[in-house]
Amino acid sequence: MKHLAEKIFKHQTTVTNDANAAAIGEMVYGTAKDLKEFITITLGTGVGSGIVSNGQLIYGHDGFAGELGHFRVIPNGRQCNCGRKGCLETYASSTGVVRSINEIESKNKTSSKIHTISSPKAKDVFDLAKNGDLFCQEIVDFTAEILGNALADFTTFSSPKAFILFGGIAQSGEYFRKKVNSAMEKGMLSIYKNTVEIRISSLHDKNAAVLGASSLVWG
Ligand SMILES: [Zn+2]
Repeated sequence: MKHLAEKIFKHQTTVTNDANAAAIGEMVYGTAKDLKEFITITLGTGVGSGIVSNGQLIYGHDGFAGELGHFRVIPNGRQCNCGRKGCLETYASSTGVVRSINEIESKNKTSSKIHTISSPKAKDVFDLAKNGDLFCQEIVDFTAEILGNALADFTTFSSPKAFILFGGIAQSGEYFRKKVNSAMEKGMLSIYKNTVEIRISSLHDKNAAVLGASSLVWG
């Protein structure tokens, strides 16, 4: 890819994926400006991530490091597009939240307003939850629990100072952040308790990726 782009554009070229570019965007321009150790988690239609340690993005030997959306959180859980089961993104992405509407059994299910919307989106679940819809609150709690526990486990491999959440679900803000934070702290190995922040990105997700990619060229 790099060599092909260099041949076409006749310029030195840097290639990375959007989640990694977004991590660099956060570091150079965004919420992670003061950080050298952090992990970005994009909660979009899938779940993407970028791991930064000592100010450097972790690429791994082949450039594919940091696919934390495919970290398996539930043994034999939901079918994932990657062909395996139980990946984080089948629960914590916007499509995962919509799957939860059909899969979570609850005594509050029948009275929920979510069923009055013809094709509900994750945003509808969060909006209704904030307005007191008990079933939607259960879905948000379930999502936050799975994501928070995953973040607790991610902490064990690079000991980040913060997780930066962005993407559609993260835009629900403090309401979701607090729930994820409390699930993370509950699941955290004791040596890491109260050492890791969860921040919501200040950059629009698409901007973060573009800004990050541009800073790779200048860097
Ligand atoms: Zn997967």
